[in-house]
Amino acid sequence: MNELMRQLPPIHEIQKHERFLAIKDMYNLSQDQLTVMAKEVVAHIRKAWLNTSDSECTLAPEQIQHFIIEELEKKVKEFSAYSLQRVINGTGTILHTNLGRAKLSEEAIDQVVLVARNYSNLEYNIESGTRGSRHDIIEKVIKTVTGAEAAMVVNNNAAAVYLILKALAKEKEVIVSRGELVEIGGSFRVSAIMEESGATLVEVGTTNKTHSFDYEEAITEQTAMIMKVHTSNFKTIGFTASVPLKNLTSIKKDHPQVLLYEDLGSGALLDFRDFHIGEEPTVKEALGNGADIVSFSGDKLLGGPQAGIIAGKKAIIQRLKKHQLARVLRVDKMTLAALEATLKAYTYSDEMQNEIPTVKAILESKSSIQKRAMQFLEKGQGLPFHLKLEEGTSQIGGGTMPGVELGTFLVSIARKGWSAQRLFNELRLSEPSIVTRIIDEKVHIDLRTITEEEVDIIITTLQHL
Ligand SMILES: *Cc1c(COP(=O)(O)O)cnc(C)c1O
Repeated sequence: MNELMRQLPPIHEIQKHERFLAIKDMYNLSQDQLTVMAKEVVAHIRKAWLNTSDSECTLAPEQIQHFIIEELEKKVKEFSAYSLQRVINGTGTILHTNLGRAKLSEEAIDQVVLVARNYSNLEYNIESGTRGSRHDIIEKVIKTVTGAEAAMVVNNNAAAVYLILKALAKEKEVIVSRGELVEIGGSFRVSAIMEESGATLVEVGTTNKTHSFDYEEAITEQTAMIMKVHTSNFKTIGFTASVPLKNLTSIKKDHPQVLLYEDLGSGALLDFRDFHIGEEPTVKEALGNGADIVSFSGDKLLGGPQAGIIAGKKAIIQRLKKHQLARVLRVDKMTLAALEATLKAYTYSDEMQNEIPTVKAILESKSSIQKRAMQFLEKGQGLPFHLKLEEGTSQIGGGTMPGVELGTFLVSIARKGWSAQRLFNELRLSEPSIVTRIIDEKVHIDLRTITEEEVDIIITTLQHL
């Protein structure tokens, strides 16, 4: 390789190349920035060539400069792209944790932009002209949609669980059924958070059955709380029994100091059972059944930004607000803006179903999805791909409503001589990235999570593959 290495041009020659100048202008880079990258590219090529023999190289000496410029452009492109990018979700999984969970409503997006662009009354009471609290921004609307006496918001539901245990049960005992010691998303374990908080976990019952008397017998002087965890991401079937919170309220008669806390996980504000989807209890219902406090995520069934919402008795929420950790776990103004707008939609219930993308996607009928699938097929006529309408099921995802399958329409895409994996990869690596599913050795796009605008993007992408 020595012969070629000797022919690597000096940097000042690369700097004079017309494409060097064009790249500099196009990406708005300084001479210095681009020179540093050019040096890195040359160093990288030199290193690669050191381990190659002359006979392995297919590059003619006169092509070297062109090759360097090409590598440089690739590097610049990579450098200037955002790490966080738009992705087209063709999987049909509505709350895809890897793809950012809930899409925000237009109102929520507008509110985020408004408070991002301007000053706001985040901690300022406009009426009195004095300092305000960011809790006040959001508390009223949460009370309205949940019926709770009081509420607050932290970073996510994991943070909510942590704050509740730390502030209310540190160095005390918390009773949890063995059937509810769940792990969510691989990184959230009730037992681990409990340990971190300094509360002592008291396990009762068995994996499949826990009874009221199991809880009662476990109560001691040290018991701070009974915690119910919604087993949102799995389902136990067969010989099972768990105690609904409602049946535990009698325990409070003899042990008024024991708090009843339910980690609801998803936090449905809309009753999806009315639409024959799942068995998710609503937040209102959990509070109505006697929970002193509940917590749930902002970006699961609720369809808002990442957040953890805590709602319940005023005296308890007051203690949580005053805890040092509340300051550590507080959310920023953009989250509050998005959350307020999302929750507001629930207060005028009729249009809400069309406004919140998550809710809309869950409730969308098969025939409505079919329309987009037919558009896809029509627009895809003439492409060098074989497109076919298929029926299948979508998942809600995000660890919510396990076992619920929503009927949907998909389009399968295939091309002569291409493996499904190849097409899957090409779509994934295109711009924007299109994530699909491979079913029966064929790439499938579920139209439930694809908008009309995205149909056009996918068609254009296929044209250029
Ligand atoms: C999802 C979930 C959590 C974690 O919520 P995040 O908002 O993702 O932090 C905690 N508990 C339950 C039961 C959940 O389903």
